[in-house]
Amino acid sequence: MSIVAFTGGAMKQFPAHAIFLAAFLAAPAAGAQNVKVTPLGSHAGELCTRDRATIFEDPTGVRILYDAGQSVTGADDPRLGKIDVVILSHAHGDHIGDLKLKALESGTCARPEVVSAAPNSTTGEIVAAKNAAIVMVGPLANFIAKKAETIKGKPTEACAVNASDIVGPLSAPCTAFVQTGGTRTFRASASSKAVEIIPVPAMHESTAPIALLGEASRKNLQPDNMSLTLGPANGYVIRFTNGLVAYLSGDTGLHAEMQLVERDFYHASLMELNFGASALSPEGAAYAVNTLVQPVSVIVNHVNEAATSGGKVKPDTRTAAFMALVRGRPVYPALSGQTMEFDGSGKCVAGC
Ligand SMILES: [Zn+2]
Ligand SMILES: [Zn+2]
Repeated sequence: MSIVAFTGGAMKQFPAHAIFLAAFLAAPAAGAQNVKVTPLGSHAGELCTRDRATIFEDPTGVRILYDAGQSVTGADDPRLGKIDVVILSHAHGDHIGDLKLKALESGTCARPEVVSAAPNSTTGEIVAAKNAAIVMVGPLANFIAKKAETIKGKPTEACAVNASDIVGPLSAPCTAFVQTGGTRTFRASASSKAVEIIPVPAMHESTAPIALLGEASRKNLQPDNMSLTLGPANGYVIRFTNGLVAYLSGDTGLHAEMQLVERDFYHASLMELNFGASALSPEGAAYAVNTLVQPVSVIVNHVNEAATSGGKVKPDTRTAAFMALVRGRPVYPALSGQTMEFDGSGKCVAGC
């Protein structure tokens, strides 16, 4: 792509070997074979307390939204752009999006201003507005499909497949439910290669926010203060077309599958770690990275604190304590709006 810069009049000013050298040197930064990872948080350039959402863009242009959560304004969030696939780790409000940002940058990094996203949720809104494929475990997929049906005024169909691939762009939202360990593949129509999306185990639970339930369900549950569980919580492994294998932990405590499944079987090279205080200590999170998963690179997100100031991790945070314990690999805070590019080996080659 950089060769394009050497067209026209400018080309005449360089000897042939200089043009070749410049094009060669510029090639790794061109991004054609990199996966672009863009966190969407409440405050640009920072990692804030409610931040959850991440967009992954495959080199073929397929864009996947992971855990829309509460750090987007909803379907109208201008940062979303085209979304082909929506994945969701579990039903908790901070992931499904029972609340949404009042506006970009509103409130502080520690306390962003939010408003209700009931009854549809940010996930439901975005799936409907973007005509996205819902790639989630069964009960969660069905719940989100129903939200999309309410918004669109027509049933959400199962995704059509072509030689087992869902082929985008889609003209309506569709459900591609999948169980833990199963694979769904999504391919851009112009490409022969598909992105593989696989829910993997997490140690957590998946209860739906009461505000997102209909009146009949609420009336059943509230007298006994019970919760409704929408299947198991999960993480995801995504195999991109450039060879990158990303492991998105979801909310989870330590579990042996991090080693047996994500490291030994999938050979995950990039890990996006959810560092929630109720599930992982800094020592536990560092053990997951250093010993269990051993990825090439780590993105830390879901930190439940205003972890950065001016884009730098603050020294008195849990996030800093975790990062200080990680050995032999970089940890990148999920800075909102800052696109990181990863090559097929898991190395960050731009934006980190
Ligand atoms: Zn959770
Ligand atoms: Zn959470």
